[in-house]
Amino acid sequence: MDARVLLTDARLPDGSVADVALGGGRILAIRPAGADRRGTVDAIAGTTGTAGAARGASPRIVALDGRWLRPGLWDAHVHVAQWARSRGQLDVSGAASAADVCAALAVAPEDGPLIAAGFRWAGWPSPPTLAALDAARAAPTVALSGDLHSAWVNSAAAAALRLPRAGLLVEGDAFLAQRRLAGIDPDPIRGVDGAARAAATRGVVGIVDLEFADNATAWSARVADGVDLLRVEAGFYPDLLDARIAAGATTGADVPGTRGLVRHGPLKVISDGSLNSRTAHCLDPYDDGSRGVQNVAPEQLAALLARARAAGIRAAVHALGDAAVRIALDAFAATGARGTIEHAQLIADADLPRFAALGVTASVQPAHALDDREVAARLWPGRTGRAFPLRSLLDAGARVALGSDAPVAPLDPWVAIAAAVHRADGDDAPWHPEQSLTVAEALACSARSRLAPGGPADLIALDADPVIADRATLRAMPVALTLLGGRVTHDAR
Ligand SMILES: [Zn+2]
Repeated sequence: MDARVLLTDARLPDGSVADVALGGGRILAIRPAGADRRGTVDAIAGTTGTAGAARGASPRIVALDGRWLRPGLWDAHVHVAQWARSRGQLDVSGAASAADVCAALAVAPEDGPLIAAGFRWAGWPSPPTLAALDAARAAPTVALSGDLHSAWVNSAAAAALRLPRAGLLVEGDAFLAQRRLAGIDPDPIRGVDGAARAAATRGVVGIVDLEFADNATAWSARVADGVDLLRVEAGFYPDLLDARIAAGATTGADVPGTRGLVRHGPLKVISDGSLNSRTAHCLDPYDDGSRGVQNVAPEQLAALLARARAAGIRAAVHALGDAAVRIALDAFAATGARGTIEHAQLIADADLPRFAALGVTASVQPAHALDDREVAARLWPGRTGRAFPLRSLLDAGARVALGSDAPVAPLDPWVAIAAAVHRADGDDAPWHPEQSLTVAEALACSARSRLAPGGPADLIALDADPVIADRATLRAMPVALTLLGGRVTHDAR
C-alpha cells in the first residue's frame, strides 16, 4: 500500500549526490548516486517487502537531477481559517494613514460586505475614526490590523455582526469582531484546501494551527473532505481546556479519523497584546507612560499551565513584551509545564538562558521584525538590540521554531527564513544584523526532521542552493518537489 519511491541524484547538504530510497512513509536508505542503484532498490525491497507481493517490485523513480534535498518545512504558528479567508481580502498593508485605507475602500465595489486587512496604525498621523470609515463605505466593512489586535468596524458592519460598538476596536473587542466574522463562514473548506496547496508549493509539510476555533474538529472534517496535504497540530484555547482534558487529548495524540495527519496540539493562551497596538506588556514604559496589557494575570496563567501539564498538554503562551515573556517563563518554571512562548519579540537579557533551562521553545516570526522595525525603533527606543533576538536565543541554548502567524505574514517559510538570515526587506540595510541566523540554522529552526534513514519521508527538493542563495532568491526559493510521508504534494520539476 505504501508507495516505494527512489529519489535519484539528490544533492545533500554536504554537497554529495545520493539516491534516496523511501518506503512506508520513511527514509529507508541514502546511498551514493548511481553507484549501486540496483542494490539500493533491493535494499528497499528487503526492508519493506515483508509481503511477498511487494518484494522485488520496482519503486517509482523520481529524478531530482542534482536538486538540493532538504527536510520538509514547518510553520509553527498559523491561523488557518483566517489565512484562507485573507487570501480573498483587500490588502491595505501599505497604507500610511487612515485616509489611505479609506481611499482604498472607497474604490472597492459597493455591492456587499468587505474585509480589508493588514493596516498598521501605530505610526499614522491620527488614529482611525468611525466617521471616516462610515464616510468611505456604507456597506458593512471591517478593516483588520496586520497584528489582528485591532479591528476598525463601520456602523453597518457593527450592526450586522451584533457588536456592542463600532469604530476602532482593540484587544478583546477586536477578537470578538473576528469571532463574529468567522461565524459567518465558520469553516471555509475550499479556501483551506487552496491555502494548503499553496503552502505545499512553498515546501511546507506541517503547521501548528492556532486559529481561534475548535481546530481538531475542523481538521477532522477537512481531512474527511480530502484536505490532506499537510500535517497539523491542532491548538486550542482555554474555553476548550475542560473538554480536551476530558477527552484525553494529550499533546501529540492522533485526532481520530485523520489518517495520522492531525494531532492534538497545545493550549494557546494570549497573555499580552501586540507592539503596534501598544499592548505588548513591557518592563519599560511606552511613550505614553503605559506598559501595555497583561491579559491573563500571572497566577491565572500558572493555574492554566498547571492544569494543562497534569493532563499531558503542552502550552503555547502568546507573550510579546519582555514583561509578559518573564511572567510566562515564571509560569512554566512554577508548574513544570512544557511548550512554547509565541512571539517573544522583546526579551530581557537575564531571561534568555531560562528558555533552555526550562525546555521552553521560542516560537518566533522573523518577518514581523521587518514589518515592525520602524515602530519598534519608536516605541521601544534603546531596546531594539534585544527585539527579535534570534541569535541571542540560539546562543543561549534555546530551541527556536520559525513561523509566520499567517495571515499576519504570508504562510511561506522562505519569507521567514530570509528575514531571519538577512533581517532586511528588499535593499534595506539589515536591522541589528548581529541577531541574524545562518541559512543552515534558519532551515533547522523550520524543520522537524533530519535527512537520515528512519526519519519521515517529509522532504523538499530545491532548484537553488539555499546556503549560497542571494537575498531575493532565498526569499522566493523555487521549490521543485514536496513529499509528505513519501507522497508527492507538490511537483514543479
Ligand atoms: Zn497568532
